[in-house]
Amino acid sequence: SQRDPNQPEFQEAVFTVLDTLKPVLVKHPEYVKANILGSLVEPERAIQFRVPWQSDDGAYHVNRGFRVQFNSAIGPYKGGLRLHPSVNLSIVKFLGFEQILKNSLTGLPIGGGKGGSDFNPKGKSDSEIMRFCQSFMTELQRHIGPDLDVPAGDIGVGGREIGYLYGQYKRLNGSQNGILTGKGLEYGGSLARTEATGFGLIYYLDALIKGQGDSLKGKKVKISGSGNVAIYALKKATENGAKVVTVSDSNGYVYDENGIDLKTVQQIKEVERGRIKEYADKISTAKYSEGSVWDLDIDYDIALPCATQNEIDGKQAALAIKDGVKYVAEGANMPSDSDAIAAYKDNNVIYGPAKAANAGGVAVSALEMSQNSERLSWSFDDVDSRLKDIMENIYKMSDDADKEYGLEKDYQAGANIAGFEKVAKAMLAQGLV
Ligand code: NDP
Repeated sequence: SQRDPNQPEFQEAVFTVLDTLKPVLVKHPEYVKANILGSLVEPERAIQFRVPWQSDDGAYHVNRGFRVQFNSAIGPYKGGLRLHPSVNLSIVKFLGFEQILKNSLTGLPIGGGKGGSDFNPKGKSDSEIMRFCQSFMTELQRHIGPDLDVPAGDIGVGGREIGYLYGQYKRLNGSQNGILTGKGLEYGGSLARTEATGFGLIYYLDALIKGQGDSLKGKKVKISGSGNVAIYALKKATENGAKVVTVSDSNGYVYDENGIDLKTVQQIKEVERGRIKEYADKISTAKYSEGSVWDLDIDYDIALPCATQNEIDGKQAALAIKDGVKYVAEGANMPSDSDAIAAYKDNNVIYGPAKAANAGGVAVSALEMSQNSERLSWSFDDVDSRLKDIMENIYKMSDDADKEYGLEKDYQAGANIAGFEKVAKAMLAQGLV
């Protein structure tokens, strides 16, 4: 920690993971001898650059750009680009470090990376976004490539931004659609990428629940958020016979004991780009309240946080446990704070951590890379069935790791261990790299 004194997010991520890896090091002294952990926590490369851009009023601005190429032991660096004022080196390193193990868990040949900028896209015009993306890519293009580093979207980077980034890459280097994922279907994007994280979450949850001899059918579910992950988790959970009774946004939540209607949520969020409050205007049995959905006191079985980081604290986790929650699976990145996770563990709540539960997005991104290399597009069903296999396998790998190390249903440690072992073996085989 003395090496990175101003990187609290990165330190927290590293210490949490290292803690769960202790039994692996006892069993594998060769990892200690080769200082695998020392290498694992040091990015192979951390690039920081200036991003100058001009706003519509003619003013000059400068933002800071990052790309951290963390680990390429098992494949090209892969991870999103985040545009948000909070972005700094600590946050990019924390996300990049987590990405190494998440990507390993998918079973696909992708290493870990992450990037972004402290640029705030909120309130910017289309042409300002375009000029920013062009300037960002003017530097980034030197560092990426289909076999080297393949960025994707993250917070603040959706289809529009990927399009502008790709357009600038193409002007500088010629057509090569393998350099970014999350592209439009017209220029190399993959079917089922939009659905991937939400569907993947439910495929993982289904495997997790079946592993306990239980079933998703008839279970009552709280979902937070009403964005991309939440909507497709709602869709697949409902198809699988569960009843989702809430969705939310950063202002409030709607609760309907009869179950949330997917089409109405899609109409409000995907078509009208409105607020979740409007759901209660359209569906008379639903009730809208301001505040956090995790403060709503109702009996239910499964919590699926799909909004944002640290949305569930220790007190809210205690309420969920009192309300009868048996399973938590994380669609968002780091939605449960450390007190919440401790509460789950103390009360035998089965906990599926983000790294495992939301890996479906990056998994389908890797399938987009495969399609780009082949110059082919696979059908929706083909991508979806591969996604399902991958998510079921992630549960199985975590469960197998628990069994190997004598852990009791600790799917967080299991995911860390299973993700780590593949990377560690690859690093060991490659010598001093
Ligand atoms: P979206 O921007 O589509 O949706 C986010 C949702 O969360 C919105 O409904 C938003 O409401 C809500 N939200 C944001 N902040 C808060 C808050 N403080 N309190 C309550 N609700 C809030 O994002 P995604 O669905 O794509 O991503 C959600 C999470 O999943 C993020 O953590 C992301 O990193 C993670 N993730 C996403 C993947 C993907 O493929 N999309 C892949 C892996 C992880 P509002 O409209 O009010 O802002």
